[in-house]
Amino acid sequence: MDMAATEPRVTMDEITALAKRRGFIFQSSEIYGGLNGFYDYGPLGAILKRNVKNAWWRDTVELRDDVVGFDSSIIMHPLTWKASGHIDAFHDKLVDCRVCKHRFRFDHLKDPNQCPDCGSKQSFTEPRNFNLMMKTQIGPMEDSASTAYLRPETAQGIFVNFKNVYQTARKRPPFGIAQIGKSFRNEITPGNFTYRVREFEQAELEYFVPDDGKDLEIFREWVDRRKNWYAQYGVKPDRLRFYELTEKERPHYAKAGIDVEYLFPWGWGELESIAHRGTYDLDAHMALSGKDLRFFDEASKAHYTPILIESSAGMDRTTLTMLVDAYDRERSTDPNGKATDRVVLRFHPYIAPVQIAVFSLARNKPDLVERARSIEMALRPSYRTQYDEGNIGQLYRRQDEIGTPLCVTIDYDTLEDGTVTVRERDSMKQERVPQSGLERYLHERIGA
Ligand code: ATP
Repeated sequence: MDMAATEPRVTMDEITALAKRRGFIFQSSEIYGGLNGFYDYGPLGAILKRNVKNAWWRDTVELRDDVVGFDSSIIMHPLTWKASGHIDAFHDKLVDCRVCKHRFRFDHLKDPNQCPDCGSKQSFTEPRNFNLMMKTQIGPMEDSASTAYLRPETAQGIFVNFKNVYQTARKRPPFGIAQIGKSFRNEITPGNFTYRVREFEQAELEYFVPDDGKDLEIFREWVDRRKNWYAQYGVKPDRLRFYELTEKERPHYAKAGIDVEYLFPWGWGELESIAHRGTYDLDAHMALSGKDLRFFDEASKAHYTPILIESSAGMDRTTLTMLVDAYDRERSTDPNGKATDRVVLRFHPYIAPVQIAVFSLARNKPDLVERARSIEMALRPSYRTQYDEGNIGQLYRRQDEIGTPLCVTIDYDTLEDGTVTVRERDSMKQERVPQSGLERYLHERIGA
């Protein structure tokens, strides 16, 4: 890897400031001082994240005939989490500094003998287990029988429904079940903006395969498919890596595992994990529930437990990746010859919250405004559009910062000769295009 790729091109402060300034992401409950580990997506951020999720859903579900969609409840029977191992084993080790009383994740400490906050030596308590599942209570009685958990992953909703789904969808392995939904983890040290939060969305694919020796091949096919997905939506290949887990790093039942990692401004961080999980999950639910979740193969008249290939991607982390990866700052010269810094988000057109902005060059000219508005209205069914008016330099600057690939400007010449100016975000090139051929011109550039 060359050094240029490892040098942060942008700081998280710049990303956070842009996200707030342009309405991508806000701190949750800001007027009350915020809540650590929780964020809200503003008007543009909500669309950005939706586009990321749609891109995943399209590729994973809609473009395949062997994957079906699913949407399970966030709160499930507490025994689900007993079977999955989350009640007994889903924890981080915590230590407290006896002097400053601050709490740390044991595995995050650079020096296990010295407090990073107050500098005290040998001041830590013994490590204690802290379960990451968020607890809640069902019904009016606050007793242990009413304790329930907010799901820490969406996958278990799929496993417990495996039989319902394959029977009603008339699928046989190899086939997959996919869902996107909220998950919750009581992270001890949330941080790096929306990278590590306590409420987040996951996109999970559970792909069930017969035990016929092709499981590792299918695992590789999914890894390639996910690789192509990131490439298709423009994530720079030199900032993405597929880290192959060693046997020691994998759970004992897994034959293979890959962490997909992105080079964030603070270093590599996991976006997704792709795992061969053997029959572990279905076996665990069969053992605790006593229900038979095996697949019945009509041809051989035999029951078997399919092997599971899982892809689990964080949608907040992927959305953050799109923001960081698209971010660019470049020196440009304004019409008066003054050098300015241009901040531009080079989003893929499918991901960009606004795809085409339409401007009227002047605010107070009804002819121009009307014409521009009607063009924008006509484009709306095919594209995500935005209408604006006023100072053209400011308008371009704003659209660059929110990553709009194309801007269409209506000016006095439009009224005379029926042409409009189309300006391209990345090259800043401008071209005059007849209004009659505008739709085709835009379609050629960004599709629809
Ligand atoms: P980490 O090691 O970063 O805590 P993990 O290995 O526990 O992550 P998984 O259990 O494999 O994560 O979850 C799958 C995906 O869900 C992760 O790759 C990530 O994208 C997302 N995810 C997990 N925890 C969080 C979180 N606290 N905030 C945002 N996304 C998360």
